[in-house]
Amino acid sequence: MSALHRLRNGAVTAVRRVGAPVGSVMRVRTDAPLVALTFDDGPVDGDTQKVLAALGDAGATATFFVLLTRVRRAPALLRDVVAAGHEIALHGPDHRRLTTLPPDSVRSRMRDSRSELEDAAGVPVRWFRPPYGAQNMRIWRATRAAGMTPVLWGPTLADWRTTSTEERLRLAVQGERGAIILGHDGFADAVDGVDDGPAPELDKGRLVSAVAAGYADKGLSLRSLGGVAASGRLVREARFTH
Ligand SMILES: [Zn+2]
Repeated sequence: MSALHRLRNGAVTAVRRVGAPVGSVMRVRTDAPLVALTFDDGPVDGDTQKVLAALGDAGATATFFVLLTRVRRAPALLRDVVAAGHEIALHGPDHRRLTTLPPDSVRSRMRDSRSELEDAAGVPVRWFRPPYGAQNMRIWRATRAAGMTPVLWGPTLADWRTTSTEERLRLAVQGERGAIILGHDGFADAVDGVDDGPAPELDKGRLVSAVAAGYADKGLSLRSLGGVAASGRLVREARFTH
């Protein structure tokens, strides 16, 4: 994995040289007719395959912010996601809120998690999305020190709560070019160290197909975050919780 180590070191060096803007990626400034579609909390046998099939039918790519608790249970599924041309990013070793963990453990936790995910996926990992979007300055610094860029989101598929398909589509298709859309192929639970109640009932494949069609009507295509970022510039905003 020497190439990955070089990349990791290069990223850290670049941060020191230019001075990292203190913020998380919220969207991409781009002229390309693209939006970034992202999925959190997987991979999960069943729903992840449905999402992959819908993306394939739509000719779309996406970024999957995965949990190591799920990757360890379904390593072959993670490799399927990579093989289908999608981007892999880190959501965490589990889904616990980072701001509630001992601060001294966060730095090694971030570094070790990235390393484990790169080994499992066989590709470099560039992005990190904190569970619940919860981060403080120490967590932000730990993310950067581990060679990753913090990413939050814009429009959502509202697929972690109970609501109508119409409402999900209305919210999901609000994005303009360069938007980062939040969806979920999994639903964190006790396996991931949290209790967020029951998962809503919905067909994730049908939802993703409808979202792709909605954006196609606006003349926009769905791509991974890395794919959209390559066409423009990252827009960061300082978003911290305590
Ligand atoms: Zn999550």
